[in-house]
Amino acid sequence: MAEAYSSLAKPTILVVEDEAPLLTLLRYNLEKQGFRVEEAADGQEALLRVSEARPDLVLLDWMLPALSGIEVCRQLRRRPGTRDLPIIMVTARTEDQDAVRALDTGADDYIAKPFAMDALLARIRALLRRSGGAATKGAISYRDLSMDQDAHRVTRNGRALHLGPTEYRLLEFFLSHPGRVFTREQLLDAVWGRDIHVEPRTVDVHIRRLRKAINGPGEIDLIRTVRSAGYALDAEGH
Ligand code: CA
Repeated sequence: MAEAYSSLAKPTILVVEDEAPLLTLLRYNLEKQGFRVEEAADGQEALLRVSEARPDLVLLDWMLPALSGIEVCRQLRRRPGTRDLPIIMVTARTEDQDAVRALDTGADDYIAKPFAMDALLARIRALLRRSGGAATKGAISYRDLSMDQDAHRVTRNGRALHLGPTEYRLLEFFLSHPGRVFTREQLLDAVWGRDIHVEPRTVDVHIRRLRKAINGPGEIDLIRTVRSAGYALDAEGH
Protein backbone atom coordinates (compact mmCIF):
# COMPACT_ATOMS: atom_id res chain seq x y z
CA MET A 1 0.00 0.00 0.00
CA ALA A 2 1.05 3.54 -0.66
CA GLU A 3 2.69 5.30 2.24
CA ALA A 4 1.54 8.88 1.76
CA TYR A 5 3.15 11.84 3.47
CA SER A 6 1.18 14.50 5.29
CA SER A 7 1.03 17.88 3.60
CA LEU A 8 3.09 19.42 6.39
CA ALA A 9 6.05 17.17 5.84
CA LYS A 10 5.99 16.73 2.08
CA PRO A 11 9.52 15.79 1.03
CA THR A 12 10.72 17.61 -2.08
CA ILE A 13 12.30 15.56 -4.81
CA LEU A 14 14.32 17.20 -7.55
CA VAL A 15 13.93 15.10 -10.69
CA VAL A 16 16.77 15.68 -13.14
CA GLU A 17 15.73 14.14 -16.43
CA ASP A 18 15.98 15.32 -20.04
CA GLU A 19 13.36 12.96 -21.47
CA ALA A 20 10.12 14.92 -21.18
CA PRO A 21 7.72 11.91 -21.24
CA LEU A 22 9.66 10.19 -18.44
CA LEU A 23 9.74 13.41 -16.45
CA THR A 24 5.95 13.71 -16.76
CA LEU A 25 5.49 10.12 -15.69
CA LEU A 26 7.81 10.55 -12.70
CA ARG A 27 6.08 13.77 -11.62
CA TYR A 28 2.67 12.11 -11.82
CA ASN A 29 3.72 9.10 -9.74
CA LEU A 30 5.74 11.00 -7.18
CA GLU A 31 3.02 13.57 -6.59
CA LYS A 32 0.50 10.78 -6.24
CA GLN A 33 2.67 9.38 -3.43
CA GLY A 34 2.67 12.71 -1.64
CA PHE A 35 6.00 14.15 -2.75
CA ARG A 36 6.59 17.67 -3.95
CA VAL A 37 8.38 17.60 -7.29
CA GLU A 38 10.91 20.04 -8.73
CA GLU A 39 12.34 19.58 -12.21
CA ALA A 40 15.58 20.17 -14.03
CA ALA A 41 16.17 19.19 -17.65
CA ASP A 42 19.96 19.24 -17.64
CA GLY A 43 22.92 19.15 -15.31
CA GLN A 44 23.52 22.90 -15.12
CA GLU A 45 19.91 23.54 -14.24
CA ALA A 46 20.09 20.83 -11.57
CA LEU A 47 23.00 22.55 -9.82
CA LEU A 48 21.17 25.86 -10.01
CA ARG A 49 17.95 24.42 -8.58
CA VAL A 50 19.79 22.79 -5.69
CA SER A 51 21.54 26.03 -4.78
CA GLU A 52 18.24 27.93 -4.90
CA ALA A 53 16.41 25.52 -2.61
CA ARG A 54 17.85 22.33 -1.23
CA PRO A 55 15.55 19.39 -2.00
CA ASP A 56 15.19 16.37 0.30
CA LEU A 57 16.38 14.01 -2.41
CA VAL A 58 17.71 14.20 -5.97
CA LEU A 59 16.72 11.68 -8.60
CA LEU A 60 19.54 12.15 -11.04
CA ASP A 61 19.68 10.80 -14.58
CA TRP A 62 23.17 9.73 -15.64
CA MET A 63 22.89 10.70 -19.31
CA LEU A 64 22.14 14.42 -19.45
CA PRO A 65 22.96 17.23 -21.85
CA ALA A 66 25.45 19.93 -20.81
CA LEU A 67 26.70 18.19 -17.68
CA SER A 68 26.42 14.45 -17.01
CA GLY A 69 24.71 13.11 -13.91
CA ILE A 70 28.05 11.79 -12.68
CA GLU A 71 29.54 15.27 -12.90
CA VAL A 72 26.53 16.83 -11.16
CA CYS A 73 26.87 14.27 -8.39
CA ARG A 74 30.59 14.95 -8.04
CA GLN A 75 30.01 18.70 -7.80
CA LEU A 76 27.23 18.33 -5.24
CA ARG A 77 29.47 16.14 -3.09
CA ARG A 78 32.24 18.71 -3.22
CA ARG A 79 30.05 21.49 -1.81
CA PRO A 80 29.76 21.52 1.98
CA GLY A 81 26.04 22.35 1.82
CA THR A 82 25.16 19.34 -0.32
CA ARG A 83 27.78 16.83 0.74
CA ASP A 84 25.12 14.74 2.44
CA LEU A 85 22.22 15.43 0.06
CA PRO A 86 20.49 12.11 -0.71
CA ILE A 87 21.07 11.20 -4.38
CA ILE A 88 19.69 8.31 -6.41
CA MET A 89 21.38 7.93 -9.77
CA VAL A 90 19.33 6.67 -12.70
CA THR A 91 21.54 4.72 -15.08
CA ALA A 92 20.67 3.63 -18.58
CA ARG A 93 23.20 0.89 -18.23
CA THR A 94 22.86 -2.38 -16.49
CA GLU A 95 26.51 -3.30 -16.16
CA ASP A 96 27.59 -3.67 -12.55
CA GLN A 97 30.68 -1.58 -13.14
CA ASP A 98 28.56 1.46 -13.96
CA ALA A 99 26.50 1.01 -10.84
CA VAL A 100 29.63 0.80 -8.72
CA ARG A 101 30.97 3.90 -10.49
CA ALA A 102 27.77 5.76 -9.68
CA LEU A 103 28.16 4.84 -6.02
CA ASP A 104 31.85 5.70 -6.01
CA THR A 105 31.03 9.17 -7.32
CA GLY A 106 28.95 9.69 -4.20
CA ALA A 107 25.43 8.61 -5.14
CA ASP A 108 23.61 6.88 -2.28
CA ASP A 109 21.79 4.48 -4.53
CA TYR A 110 21.13 3.79 -8.19
CA ILE A 111 18.43 2.27 -10.31
CA ALA A 112 18.79 1.12 -13.92
CA LYS A 113 16.42 2.14 -16.71
CA PRO A 114 13.91 0.83 -17.49
CA PHE A 115 12.72 0.54 -13.89
CA ALA A 116 9.41 -0.37 -12.29
CA MET A 117 7.81 2.63 -10.60
CA ASP A 118 7.22 0.58 -7.42
CA ALA A 119 10.89 -0.30 -7.16
CA LEU A 120 11.89 3.33 -7.58
CA LEU A 121 9.40 4.49 -4.96
CA ALA A 122 10.67 1.86 -2.50
CA ARG A 123 14.22 3.10 -2.98
CA ILE A 124 13.20 6.72 -2.56
CA ARG A 125 11.37 5.94 0.68
CA ALA A 126 14.23 3.82 1.97
CA LEU A 127 16.77 6.55 1.29
CA LEU A 128 14.57 9.21 2.88
CA ARG A 129 14.26 6.97 5.93
CA ARG A 130 18.03 6.60 6.10
CA SER A 131 18.61 10.34 5.79
CA GLY A 132 15.62 11.50 7.78
CA GLY A 133 16.26 13.16 11.10
CA ALA A 134 15.04 10.35 13.31
CA ALA A 135 13.63 10.91 16.78
CA THR A 136 15.77 12.22 19.60
CA LYS A 137 18.20 9.58 20.74
CA GLY A 138 21.31 11.03 22.35
CA ALA A 139 24.95 10.22 21.79
CA ILE A 140 26.83 6.99 21.15
CA SER A 141 30.54 6.45 20.91
CA TYR A 142 33.30 3.96 20.36
CA ARG A 143 36.93 4.73 21.18
CA ASP A 144 37.59 8.29 19.95
CA LEU A 145 34.62 8.22 17.60
CA SER A 146 31.32 9.70 18.70
CA MET A 147 27.95 10.33 17.16
CA ASP A 148 25.50 12.91 18.41
CA GLN A 149 22.24 11.52 17.10
CA ASP A 150 20.23 14.63 17.88
CA ALA A 151 22.53 17.04 16.09
CA HIS A 152 23.34 14.41 13.45
CA ARG A 153 27.02 15.10 14.05
CA VAL A 154 29.93 12.70 14.01
CA THR A 155 33.37 13.45 15.38
CA ARG A 156 36.60 11.53 15.76
CA ASN A 157 39.07 12.78 18.28
CA GLY A 158 37.16 16.08 18.26
CA ARG A 159 37.38 16.45 14.46
CA ALA A 160 34.05 16.85 12.65
CA LEU A 161 33.43 14.14 10.06
CA HIS A 162 31.23 14.43 6.99
CA LEU A 163 29.21 11.33 6.20
CA GLY A 164 26.62 10.70 3.53
CA PRO A 165 23.21 9.45 4.73
CA THR A 166 23.99 5.80 4.04
CA GLU A 167 27.39 5.94 5.74
CA TYR A 168 25.74 7.66 8.70
CA ARG A 169 23.19 4.88 9.08
CA LEU A 170 25.86 2.21 8.68
CA LEU A 171 27.99 3.81 11.38
CA GLU A 172 24.96 4.30 13.62
CA PHE A 173 24.22 0.60 13.30
CA PHE A 174 27.84 -0.40 14.01
CA LEU A 175 28.00 1.94 17.01
CA SER A 176 24.93 0.28 18.45
CA HIS A 177 26.68 -3.10 18.27
CA PRO A 178 30.42 -2.51 18.67
CA GLY A 179 32.67 -5.52 18.14
CA ARG A 180 29.98 -7.61 16.53
CA VAL A 181 30.56 -9.01 13.07
CA PHE A 182 27.78 -8.54 10.54
CA THR A 183 27.43 -10.16 7.15
CA ARG A 184 26.69 -8.01 4.11
CA GLU A 185 23.15 -9.36 4.12
CA GLN A 186 22.63 -8.40 7.76
CA LEU A 187 23.91 -4.92 7.04
CA LEU A 188 21.61 -4.64 4.03
CA ASP A 189 18.62 -5.62 6.14
CA ALA A 190 19.52 -3.25 8.95
CA VAL A 191 20.49 -0.22 6.92
CA TRP A 192 18.69 -0.48 3.59
CA GLY A 193 15.67 -2.46 4.75
CA ARG A 194 14.27 -5.77 3.61
CA ASP A 195 11.86 -4.27 1.13
CA ILE A 196 14.40 -3.34 -1.48
CA HIS A 197 16.85 -5.41 -3.42
CA VAL A 198 20.43 -4.20 -3.24
CA GLU A 199 23.51 -6.07 -4.40
CA PRO A 200 25.61 -7.27 -1.44
CA ARG A 201 28.67 -5.63 -2.92
CA THR A 202 26.99 -2.25 -2.62
CA VAL A 203 27.81 -2.70 1.06
CA ASP A 204 31.51 -2.88 0.20
CA VAL A 205 31.31 0.44 -1.62
CA HIS A 206 29.70 2.15 1.37
CA ILE A 207 32.11 0.53 3.83
CA ARG A 208 34.97 1.90 1.73
CA ARG A 209 33.40 5.35 1.87
CA LEU A 210 32.76 5.07 5.59
CA ARG A 211 36.39 4.12 6.21
CA LYS A 212 37.57 7.07 4.14
CA ALA A 213 35.33 9.39 6.13
CA ILE A 214 36.20 8.22 9.64
CA ASN A 215 39.86 7.19 9.42
CA GLY A 216 42.22 10.13 9.28
CA PRO A 217 45.93 9.84 8.41
CA GLY A 218 47.75 7.80 11.03
CA GLU A 219 44.56 6.77 12.81
CA ILE A 220 43.58 3.18 13.51
CA ASP A 221 41.06 1.76 11.03
CA LEU A 222 37.98 1.27 13.20
CA ILE A 223 36.28 -1.04 10.72
CA ARG A 224 37.48 -4.61 10.69
CA THR A 225 36.99 -6.71 7.57
CA VAL A 226 36.35 -10.32 8.51
CA ARG A 227 37.22 -12.49 5.54
CA SER A 228 34.27 -14.33 4.04
CA ALA A 229 32.12 -13.13 6.94
CA GLY A 230 31.59 -9.40 6.85
CA TYR A 231 32.44 -6.31 8.83
CA ALA A 232 32.62 -5.10 12.42
CA LEU A 233 33.29 -1.88 14.26
CA ASP A 234 36.38 -3.17 15.96
CA ALA A 235 39.73 -1.50 16.46
CA GLU A 236 41.40 -4.73 17.62
CA GLY A 237 42.79 -7.58 15.62
CA HIS A 238 43.89 -5.83 12.46
CA1 CA B 1 18.80 11.11 -20.20
